[in-house]
Amino acid sequence: MDLWYTENHTDDVKFSIRIKEQIYHDKSPFQDIDFFTSEEFGTFFTLDGLMMVTEKDEFIYHDMISHVPMAVNPEIKNVLVIGGGDGGTVRELTRYKSIENIDMVEIDEMVVKACREYLPLTSSKLDDSRVNLFFEDGVAFIERKKKEYDLIIIDSTDPIGPGEGLFTKSFYTNCYLALKDNGILINQHESPYYDRDKKNMNRAHKRIKETFEIAEVYEFHMPTYPSGHWLFGFASKKFHPLKDLNEKAWKLNELETKYYNLELHKGAFALPNYVKKALDE
Ligand code: SAM
Repeated sequence: MDLWYTENHTDDVKFSIRIKEQIYHDKSPFQDIDFFTSEEFGTFFTLDGLMMVTEKDEFIYHDMISHVPMAVNPEIKNVLVIGGGDGGTVRELTRYKSIENIDMVEIDEMVVKACREYLPLTSSKLDDSRVNLFFEDGVAFIERKKKEYDLIIIDSTDPIGPGEGLFTKSFYTNCYLALKDNGILINQHESPYYDRDKKNMNRAHKRIKETFEIAEVYEFHMPTYPSGHWLFGFASKKFHPLKDLNEKAWKLNELETKYYNLELHKGAFALPNYVKKALDE
C-alpha cells in the first residue's frame, strides 16, 4: 500500500512525500506533533500539519540561521534561541568554542522530547554544558531580559498558533531591548513566493525595519518548504551583514559546513528584483 504525507502549500498546490511509516503522533497543549520516516527525506516531523525539519535538508536551514551572524561578529558569547525545539540551531552554535552560553526557550517541551527520541541528528547537542533549556513562551521570556544577549535567533514556526506572538512589533521591540549594543537578531522571515507567506514576510520586515537601525533579508533554498525559496532576516543595532563580514575571523574557526560558505554569505543578500519590490510594498 502507498502511504503519502501531503501538505497544502496553497489552496491550489500540494506537496507530497511517500512515507514508510508514521512513527509518532501526539497532541500537546500547543499543537499536533507527527513524525514520519521516508526513503527520500529520511525521518521528518510536522507541527499542525506543516513541515518543520527533515533529515535530508535540515543542514541548509541550520547552517544559514547560525553561521551568517557568527561570521559577522566573532565576539558573540551569549546567545538566545527562541523556538528551535529540534535542536538543529543549537547544534550548529555549539560548534563555536567562543560561545559561552546558549539559552533556548521553547514553548513546547513535547517537541523537544520527541526530537530527542526520533531526531538525534538535530537534537544531539541539547545536552552541551553551555545550553540552558527553558520551556515557556518566548514572548514572556524576552520581556524579562534587558541588554543581555549578543545574538537572538528566532527559530519559529509560522505566525499561526503559538508562533503568532513571535511576529509582533512589541516582540521585536523587546528583542531589541534584550540585545546588547552590538546585538544581532536573526529571524525566520517566511517566503516571498506564495501570497500567504509573502504577507507574513512583508509584515515581519516592516516591523523589524521600524525597530532596528539595520534590517536586511537573505535567502536560502529549502526543498521541503513552500516554493523552496525561503528567507531569514538579519537585523542589528550596528553590524551590517556584508560591510562587517569578518572573513578572516570566521576562517579561524576551521568549521566544515555542508551549505554555508563565505561566498554564499555574500550572495545570499543579493535578492531577486521581485523580492526587493515585495519587501518595499
Ligand atoms: N525549522 C522550522 C520551520 O521554520 O519550519 C522551525 C523550527 S522549530 C521546530 C519551531 C519551534 O518554535 C517549534 O518547536 C514550536 O513549538 C516553537 N514555538 C512556537 N511558538 C513559540 C513561542 N511563542 N515561544 C517559544 N517557542 C515557540
